Amino acid sequence: MGMSRTERKKTQGTPCSNCRKIVPNYDIINLGSIESGYRKLCGQCFNAESAKLGGLDKFEHLNFEPVRIVDCEGQAHDFHFGTHLFLPGVALNAFELRDGEPAGYQFQIIGDPEEDLLALFGRLVEKIRRALSIKHLKRGSLGLQIADQVVRGRIDWDQDEDGRVPRLVIDGREITWDQFGHMLMTFEGWQFKLEILDKSDES
Ligand SMILES: [Zn+2]
Repeated sequence: MGMSRTERKKTQGTPCSNCRKIVPNYDIINLGSIESGYRKLCGQCFNAESAKLGGLDKFEHLNFEPVRIVDCEGQAHDFHFGTHLFLPGVALNAFELRDGEPAGYQFQIIGDPEEDLLALFGRLVEKIRRALSIKHLKRGSLGLQIADQVVRGRIDWDQDEDGRVPRLVIDGREITWDQFGHMLMTFEGWQFKLEILDKSDES
């Protein structure tokens, strides 16, 4: 079994090896090797180093403030953002937080580091809005059911199963493998097609 919730809370902040600022764990990137030693860099310091290595002196790191987006059922979701310059691309990540850890809805968009980060951010927000305008699960007489014939979601680690089977995140909601199997039984005898996509792909 992994860490309990209380243990997780105690380790929520980590100091950056470079600027010494204590940042949330999700903003830390572990760098290094056994020979050169390990360093924990905050997103901003990591991006500054990447930009220097890649000769991108014009790259400007931006810290985006959280944004609240309401889904098609009127429920508000607070998205936090992270920017990672991993050459030759720049990734913008959006995620909800639970107990200080990324959870729920998560999105990613990849762009060119020379392009305007604000424009990329705008595209990410559009992507979130599109995703939140659809619900794939609905509550029916048998509990939570598949609303239509397409389900989009994310494959996640299930702490309770020690990673033996996935936990799915559909509509920003955690669904166990067993729950999902139960939902599929409504379609007994039907066929299905499973397509696996990169995190940044449009699903
Ligand atoms: Zn730092």
